[in-house]
Amino acid sequence: PNNTDPILRTEGLVKRFGEFTATDHVDLELERGEFRSLIGPNGAGKTTLFNLISGALPVTDGEIYFAGRDDEEPTAITSLSPAERVRRGIGRSFQISNIFGGLSVRENVRLAVQSVNREEIGLLESLFRPTDRYDEIAAETERILERVGLESVADVTANALAYGDRRRLEIGVVLATDPELVLLDEPTAGMSVDETRETIELIQNVLVDQTLLLIEHDIELVMELSDRISVLNHGELLAEGTPNQIASNQAVQDAYLGG
Ligand code: ADP
Repeated sequence: PNNTDPILRTEGLVKRFGEFTATDHVDLELERGEFRSLIGPNGAGKTTLFNLISGALPVTDGEIYFAGRDDEEPTAITSLSPAERVRRGIGRSFQISNIFGGLSVRENVRLAVQSVNREEIGLLESLFRPTDRYDEIAAETERILERVGLESVADVTANALAYGDRRRLEIGVVLATDPELVLLDEPTAGMSVDETRETIELIQNVLVDQTLLLIEHDIELVMELSDRISVLNHGELLAEGTPNQIASNQAVQDAYLGG
């Protein structure tokens, strides 16, 4: 064993749409617990890479390895369904909203908690222990509401939430699936500079035990908050490193930061 503890590793990952190569032999490795940002110009392949990791899209070539909940060596997840990847600990938020607008905040969190638990213990088993499960799910739901700061609006309908509380609920719903790795695809799309900062800081404060992979356009904020940054360009991994290393990388400046 070496001194890093990888949670996710992609090897020679390729995605083609017809003739077009959106992901071009990407070798990405995330260390457990780190906050990694993924940046690159529009069309660089950031969302496609997320879709491959979450299983929303099948790969053309290459492998994806994920270590999951234990500290064992990562195992291949390349052909697993999206649902199985969620169960193993890959959570995804924001561009795919999992919120039911007509349900209350508490109901939304409880549904998310239930969705993972039911898969883990099996429907038949859950039928034989309904009261146990009910108490556990209710307790976990309250714990999450508290963690994201939504106890006071737990009975409010999701559609009626203020903007910031809606963001909190989205984070709560991700947290409810008990993820090890969270893929955050532009959680701040359409937000002001202040809202963007608040949202990223909230994510960092709530998802403290998780490894985070973030797509974010506010480069200043990315530089300030990330542990490490990976830069995609034309589907290829152009550079990787600490914010300081990325800021002073000539290839990144030429391709992306505009000199
Ligand atoms: P980014 O998230 O960095 O802006 P994307 O991953 O969304 O980039 O897109 C990368 C490239 O792949 C773009 O040129 C886009 O048009 C293309 N692309 C993405 N999805 C598809 C698809 N389903 N079919 C064809 N081309 C696609």
